[in-house]
Amino acid sequence: MKVVWFKRDLRLSDHVPLVKAVDSEEPVLGVYIVEDIRIEQDDVSQLHIAWDIANARELSKQFQSIGGAFQIVSGIATEVFQRLNETSKISEILCHEETGLLWSWDRDKEVADWCEYNDIKFSQYPSNGVVRNLKNRDIWNDTRLARMAIPSAQSPTKILSPTGFNSLDNSIGIYPCYSKLVDTWLEPGEVAANSVLTSFVKERNENYISSISSPALAERYSSRLSAYLASGVLSVKQVLEAVGMMKIRITKQNHPNRQYLLRNLNAFSSRVLWRCHFIQRLEVEATQNYISLNPELDSKIHRILDKDKFEAWKLGKTGWPFFDACMRSLTETGWINFRMRAMIQSVAAYTLWLPWKDTGNHLAQLFIDYEPGIHWSQINMQSGITGINAVRAYSIIKQSTDHDLEGAFIRKWVPELKAVPNSYIHEPWLMSEEAQEKVGVKIGLDYPAPIVDEQIERNKGIQACYAARKDGDVKSRSKRVYDTHGSRKKRNQNKKASDEKKISGQKSLVDF
Ligand SMILES: Cc1cc2nc3c(=O)[nH]c(=O)nc-3n(C[C@H](O)[C@H](O)[C@H](O)COP(=O)(O)OP(=O)(O)OC[C@H]3O[C@@H](n4cnc5c(N)ncnc54)[C@H](O)[C@@H]3O)c2cc1C
Repeated sequence: MKVVWFKRDLRLSDHVPLVKAVDSEEPVLGVYIVEDIRIEQDDVSQLHIAWDIANARELSKQFQSIGGAFQIVSGIATEVFQRLNETSKISEILCHEETGLLWSWDRDKEVADWCEYNDIKFSQYPSNGVVRNLKNRDIWNDTRLARMAIPSAQSPTKILSPTGFNSLDNSIGIYPCYSKLVDTWLEPGEVAANSVLTSFVKERNENYISSISSPALAERYSSRLSAYLASGVLSVKQVLEAVGMMKIRITKQNHPNRQYLLRNLNAFSSRVLWRCHFIQRLEVEATQNYISLNPELDSKIHRILDKDKFEAWKLGKTGWPFFDACMRSLTETGWINFRMRAMIQSVAAYTLWLPWKDTGNHLAQLFIDYEPGIHWSQINMQSGITGINAVRAYSIIKQSTDHDLEGAFIRKWVPELKAVPNSYIHEPWLMSEEAQEKVGVKIGLDYPAPIVDEQIERNKGIQACYAARKDGDVKSRSKRVYDTHGSRKKRNQNKKASDEKKISGQKSLVDF
């Protein structure tokens, strides 16, 4: 029999390994392993496991509806395959290439060695826009585009299941349901994922650009596809195909708002491309969760773990209302928009001077859509340790007044401040004793005073980062980082001079 090993590709459609297995006419068993090694990682939480299991269960139902058998089993991959092989000889294990952190590469190598020892073919297929065995970006974009041009694979209509194997799920009762861990409207499975995709492509994208920076609006108007993409319930290709079809429709129908609609869809497609761009970084450097892209810069910056600051940051009890609202909302729902993720991490890195590995692991655990390739690249970037990106240290007060002027989002997530008037909602510590008494909030008692002076500490953090970037070793590493991971598109457009400026860290600071 053939085994299709599902990892972070929990779907029936656009699944080349499954199509190849089914085409062979040998019986096929679908397997999803709740891996011990994954559960032990610092960046992995019960939420990730529960969300993936929920998606695997939906996949199992689809498998069974077309005659297939699907097993959800806990354990170590090679031991699971050993047991299956003892019941019925496996001829081939098929799966997608997984771009993950180092443990997943080691695990894949162990499976490859085990297959070789047992005379079993191990076939790994590319995952859409990520290209294996590249040393730099020179041919990445062309290869990616050529792959994307091939239409996505259809779901099989029938699966021949091997005799002696029933569908089973030995994760039942062991792991909590994802909806007990976070308050989210996302439902698991391909059907739900496709309906979120359709609602975005047909309607919700109309407010995409104008809403994505606001935590309250983005909750509804950004695509919300990230959790499905992270578990592979949808592929990047399927998402881009749906967008492409909608673009053709808008253009053909000569839609009155067509420029505006196309702009929104194009902005969205660029972000989906960034996804591949960042995952490709991890494909080349799988250690980004513990070795920064620019280790020389990281060691010069040398952040320190202040336990009190870290606790206040994690709990959303910093005394900065908008920051606390964002952190509490994320903790409760498992999701927040890009701008606020960047602010949360940059406050940790610049204003509170906390080490990026600790804050990065904590955030990874909170995100229902945790994707190591995007996450660790962004954590590196938002902490100023790549040496090739501009320093972006977000001002909480600016974000607060830009995106929650009336304080509705703050009052929703920080109920201690419900009665605080608009004039003080962003900086309640400025209220006089008398005003505090009037609204029934004593700052420092009912709600914390800011843990540090934001402006002073943020500026200190920015200056320290710029100073560290001047070091000669840091600069030469920055050049190597850019040569390996920098976008060739930008390189071709903007010329050498601006590259050099980037690397020397002279880019002027914009107030984010
Ligand atoms: C510190 C930090 C950590 C992050 N960690 C993750 C993570 O673990 N998983 C994750 O999916 N995204 C991560 N992001 C990127 C971004 O915040 C989320 O992709 C986005 O908020 C998901 O919501 P959406 O699907 O509605 O986004 P949309 O705006 O609708 O975007 C569509 C898709 O494009 C991709 N995308 C969007 N923005 C980016 C980006 N900046 N870089 C790369 N790909 C992008 C995602 O796959 C997303 O689902 C992180 C950002 C920051 C600043």
